[in-house]
Amino acid sequence: MVFNSCTLLKLQKVITMPRGMFKSRTLRRVFRRLPSGKSELRYEQRNPSVAHCARCGSQLHGMPRIRASKLASVPKSQKRPERPYGGVLCSRCQRDMIKVEAREE
Ligand SMILES: [Zn+2]
Repeated sequence: MVFNSCTLLKLQKVITMPRGMFKSRTLRRVFRRLPSGKSELRYEQRNPSVAHCARCGSQLHGMPRIRASKLASVPKSQKRPERPYGGVLCSRCQRDMIKVEAREE
């Protein structure tokens, strides 16, 4: 395979060994397009895992997968479903819980 000098320069940039702290995959690698048109490799913290129901363990819907620091810029109504036990129980478990509470009274 024959490369011209421009392609070789790009390859060299990609192949260079990352700094020690960036060798592990703890941080995710993101290519960002700069205003100049060049792309740059950046390292970002990974997103947290999907939220799960406290009772049955199924995945919760309507819960953003972003870090707590970025969650501050998200409206409160977009952080969890706006219903009783929203963000804690899934809709099925929530329905069961309401029935149990009603029968106890
Ligand atoms: Zn559940």
